[in-house]
Amino acid sequence: MAGGVAFFQYGFIFTNLGLPDVRDDLAGRLLNFSRQARIQIPMNTRQFYIDGAWVNPLAGTELDVINPSNETVCATISLGGEADTQAAVEAARRAFDSWSESSKSQRLELMNRILEVYVSRSGEIAEAISQEMGAPVDMAASSQVGTGSYHIKAFIRALEAFEFERELRPNTPNDRILYQPIGVCGLITPWNWPMNQIALKVMPALASGCTMVLKPSELSPLSAMVFADILHEAGVPAGVFNLLNGDGAGVGTALSGHRDVAMISFTGSSRAGIAISKNAADGLKRVSLELGGKGANIVFADAAAEAVRDGVARCFNNTGQSCNAPTRMLVERSRYDEAVAQAKEQADNTAVDLAEKHGSHIGPLVSQMQYDKVQALIERGISDDGARLVAGGLGKPEGLETGYFVRPTVFADCNNDMAIMREEIFGPVLSMMPFDTEEEAIAIANDTDYGLTNYVQTGDAARANRLARRLRSGMVDMNGQARSSGAPFGGFKHSGNGREGGVWGLEEFLEVKAVGGWSSEIPEDSH
Ligand code: NAD
Repeated sequence: MAGGVAFFQYGFIFTNLGLPDVRDDLAGRLLNFSRQARIQIPMNTRQFYIDGAWVNPLAGTELDVINPSNETVCATISLGGEADTQAAVEAARRAFDSWSESSKSQRLELMNRILEVYVSRSGEIAEAISQEMGAPVDMAASSQVGTGSYHIKAFIRALEAFEFERELRPNTPNDRILYQPIGVCGLITPWNWPMNQIALKVMPALASGCTMVLKPSELSPLSAMVFADILHEAGVPAGVFNLLNGDGAGVGTALSGHRDVAMISFTGSSRAGIAISKNAADGLKRVSLELGGKGANIVFADAAAEAVRDGVARCFNNTGQSCNAPTRMLVERSRYDEAVAQAKEQADNTAVDLAEKHGSHIGPLVSQMQYDKVQALIERGISDDGARLVAGGLGKPEGLETGYFVRPTVFADCNNDMAIMREEIFGPVLSMMPFDTEEEAIAIANDTDYGLTNYVQTGDAARANRLARRLRSGMVDMNGQARSSGAPFGGFKHSGNGREGGVWGLEEFLEVKAVGGWSSEIPEDSH
């Protein structure tokens, strides 16, 4: 823990996970690390990371972080206020002068070092994520931690290929297009895939020469603090990266309204995205939004045999707490009854258990509030909507009375007026509906406020491509094939306006400057 030991005073308990190898990132491998010894990482979770050091809050209140598997306090953090926000933004503003002038090779060297330290401390991150938001330990160590290293590597590749100074077009020697960092960025992230979202913002901000203040979700601050310590150990210059814990009303609002913050990059609910946009409007900030989703998974009769089971598993992954979860399954009528039976079987066979246990089960929801919201929507699906409940339902799974556990739930015979088809539930709840024609399937899929990811399952390649063009969403995944690394992630409509990942993710943090009268005889500098 470079530089960390002296200032960390109070501990939260980590289990010794060994050092799982996450080099394969999303390979989906379950890691068999040992859990014999419990160790205590000395970390004062009440502090913030500002200007290259862990510091006490200037003002603010305390918040207990609750382990959603057992409802006990696993750490206490500080929620910062105006003065803390001011200190963090000032540090970032001071650091901008030099970091914005750093060369591509300096940034690449630093990012490679971050990757090295991230991999070496992946066990700590996995345990923090598992405790704070309830991802089962094996899933936390593979998928959750793996998304971070996956994005760090992808941004290293994107930066290597990125040209910050370009010709306008061939035969325009006296024109130059310069890509330059926008300034101090406020990065506000949610709790559901903590390392995914933090890496998707911090790495491109660093790569583009921006400085930043990260405000992670107050529900998942621990993994973010480990991440901050990783950046410290990797040698990120003081002030370039700062971490402030806080809630939306406090630090979140102070950041989005701060005059020295040039850009807010936000991932979270559409509600908060709207509030941030309004607050940032007076300062004419750039606001990049990654918001919620209600993805349709369109299953045609000629889809692969495993399409329905895979769709259910994907919907329930991370206990249904993914913005891109395929939560509306539309099935061609000739295959509908069979699909409902398969979905029921898959849901009934989905194990739910404590996050600290090994295995491929799903864990609890993140909080009591999320539990209450999901229960209320299941209740609406049963009574007001009148959908047919075929699996799961209200209450907790047997034997899991403590913790925010829910029953994997499937509704059939839904229509697009139902709340369970329109609202983002953010729990393991699937809504199914039959369709007769391709046109009808497209219309149902597009009849939503959201537009993040849609899914298509069909053996007809021409039809697949037709749907990819017509679905109103930032991403379309077909026949279980994942998009490649470096592809942009983002949505249409209420799913936001940002694009994260690859070249698009870098450009979010850059200003474009057009120069006339450029002397092309002068040697290029290292940019
Ligand atoms: P949330 O909007 O409640 O909180 C997200 C973050 O915003 C937290 O850090 C929170 O403290 C902060 N925040 C809340 N109100 C704010 C305000 N007024 N001003 C500034 N900051 C504020 O969302 P959540 O419950 O943490 O996350 C779940 C939501 O995130 C879901 O809707 C999900 O779909 C969405 N999400 C979207 C993506 C994507 O890339 N599109 C990815 C993951 C999650």
